[in-house]
Amino acid sequence: MVKVLSVGELLIDFTPYGLSDKGDPLFEQNAGGAPANVAAMFARLGGDVSMAAKVGDDAFGESLVRTLREAGVDTAPIRRTNEANTTLAFVHLDEGGDRSFSFYRKPGADALLREEEIPDALIAGAGLIHAGSVSMTKEPVCSATLSVIRRAAAMGKPVSFDPNIRESLIEDREKLLRDIRDILPSVTYLKVAEEELEWIAGEPDEETACTFLRKEYGIPVIVSTKGARGSACYSEDGCAEAPGFEVTPVDTTGAGDAFWGAFLHKVIGSGAGGKTPEPGQLERWLRFANAAGALATTKRGGIPALPDKRAIEMLMS
Ligand code: ADP
Repeated sequence: MVKVLSVGELLIDFTPYGLSDKGDPLFEQNAGGAPANVAAMFARLGGDVSMAAKVGDDAFGESLVRTLREAGVDTAPIRRTNEANTTLAFVHLDEGGDRSFSFYRKPGADALLREEEIPDALIAGAGLIHAGSVSMTKEPVCSATLSVIRRAAAMGKPVSFDPNIRESLIEDREKLLRDIRDILPSVTYLKVAEEELEWIAGEPDEETACTFLRKEYGIPVIVSTKGARGSACYSEDGCAEAPGFEVTPVDTTGAGDAFWGAFLHKVIGSGAGGKTPEPGQLERWLRFANAAGALATTKRGGIPALPDKRAIEMLMS
């Protein structure tokens, strides 16, 4: 079975779920971080996946490693450090379940992952590399992420990339944009939320932006996610689209990651690897991924809210 290596953010999300008798917010704590959620979703669907990240030498770090291991992810490449605490993120939810984040103690341990802590052998042992997210806005993890992507591409490995841009966390827009554009030529599967497209391509129209990115950077497959409206995919066969499923969202945290873990499951399962999928296949993959994303919004939290194959197939039927 083809192994996936997911690299970067690994943290504890604190999600509010109500108020105490005194009116203080009550939080639920969950393992999260976009690449960790993607890894957990991929593993939940039976995939073979390792996570490369860094946690603090503390109880939160231990709990993160345990949660990922229990989700079926190989945690051997996760490093521990006493230079920083495990990263903690506080999620704020609005009434529709949409969320924003704030971080406690920056930079947390996951930002301290270094290039040399992801050896060539680890990359060589994987059939596909997934990276991106907030890891692109902090050092040294940003340099480590860029290095993994470059080394993977040099080895001929397909690379999956999700920029996962969170406006409030960007300190240096120019640098982030430069870094993203630098590695786009190494990317095989690009996932972008529709609001990120204008940011990266400088063009708000989805089709124009994706066509431009495919041509300019030679990216074989670009998937654009559109919340409740579903998703679209641009490849050499043109555009495939699949509408979203109707659900009642309570917390959209991790919807994009559930979507992408499910999409990568199809990429790997089909044996497509770095190749462009066959016509017609993409709609089915998008539909499967849309169902995973929709189900992830119906429960609070990241990893605990990830659906299994049965639930996905039930929603699709
Ligand atoms: P991201 O979390 O990366 O910003 P989206 O919010 O677009 O991405 O969500 C990813 C996918 O999850 C969507 O393409 C869709 O398939 C599904 N999804 C997200 N929100 C909803 C929703 N409210 N109703 C149904 N499906 C949703």
